[in-house]
Amino acid sequence: MKPLRIGIVGYGKIARDQHVPAIARLPRFALATTVSRSGSGIEGVPNYTNHADMLAAQDIEAVAICTPPRARYAIARDCIAAGLHVLLEKPPAVTLGEIDDLACLAKAKGVTLFATWHARFHPAVEAAAAALAGQRIAAMEIVWHEDVRKWHPGQQWIWEPGGFGVFDPGINAFSIATRIFPGPLFVREAELLYPANRQTPIAAELLLFSPVASADMPVSLDWRARGGDNWTISIRTESGVSVEVAESGAQLAIDGEAHVAEEPGEYPGIYARFLDLIDARACDVDTGPLRMVADAMLTGRRTQVEAFVD
Ligand code: NAP
Repeated sequence: MKPLRIGIVGYGKIARDQHVPAIARLPRFALATTVSRSGSGIEGVPNYTNHADMLAAQDIEAVAICTPPRARYAIARDCIAAGLHVLLEKPPAVTLGEIDDLACLAKAKGVTLFATWHARFHPAVEAAAAALAGQRIAAMEIVWHEDVRKWHPGQQWIWEPGGFGVFDPGINAFSIATRIFPGPLFVREAELLYPANRQTPIAAELLLFSPVASADMPVSLDWRARGGDNWTISIRTESGVSVEVAESGAQLAIDGEAHVAEEPGEYPGIYARFLDLIDARACDVDTGPLRMVADAMLTGRRTQVEAFVD
């Protein structure tokens, strides 16, 4: 079978680290082109400095959009209009309005739109969802602490409006929580900590509630962590089962016992799913994690903290 020619728009950290190797593993894809405004790309693969030039010059069938979220909507809209199947890095857009529109456009055009949530592709996440299905929840705590200097060195877009701040990693926690939690999750209140010199929060403390939970559930997101990351969701059911998803979804313990699953890795799983969706001419657009960020922003109190210097 002739491989699907795919382009990558936004050739930065995640494109280099994850998308290129994942595409290379699957013989049904051929990486045909990249887009980066600065001209950085892969030797031997044509690069364009904007997506319009790529669309005019290249005969491709699919595209992975790995830019910062602010650029995504306009690029995705043009790619859908050109008849391409579109994979979106997380978060799929800056606003719920944008992603809703993209979903309508993809449906009307008959192409695949896949809003990816990479953290959901750890097998531990599906196993945790199975363990919690149908349960009532006594307690849940989400802790998502990491060092922004380690994970986003020099990236300025994360501090600009539409850059999500600490919700850039925090939305990964929401993507897991909305998949494994056995009922709807809502934001009751939020405190958002903004550095004096920045437009997005460096930390956030939330309280969630749910009709299937007997108590409010705290969430702590913090980009100021030193000495190691902590990406953990701990849940206890009313029947006494404890489920802990750690390492951003890579580890699962049920009642303290480790459950290790075979995993192809997040991004190979994402591209295998993209192929399945393309073959079925189907879309996968779950806006739940983005809705939680929007709700935190809508309910949040703003507190100013000391300036952040990179
Ligand atoms: P990054 O290193 O800053 O890379 C983004 C790239 O997009 C930049 O190299 C930039 O290159 C390009 N770009 C920006 N605006 C563009 C535009 N209008 N058209 C074409 N290219 C454009 O950021 P990243 O860490 O890869 O993150 C990108 C997305 O992936 C974010 O949504 C992030 O949440 C997600 N993600 C990141 C990670 C991670 O570990 N870093 C993990 C999972 C998901 P030019 O300036 O050359 O155009």
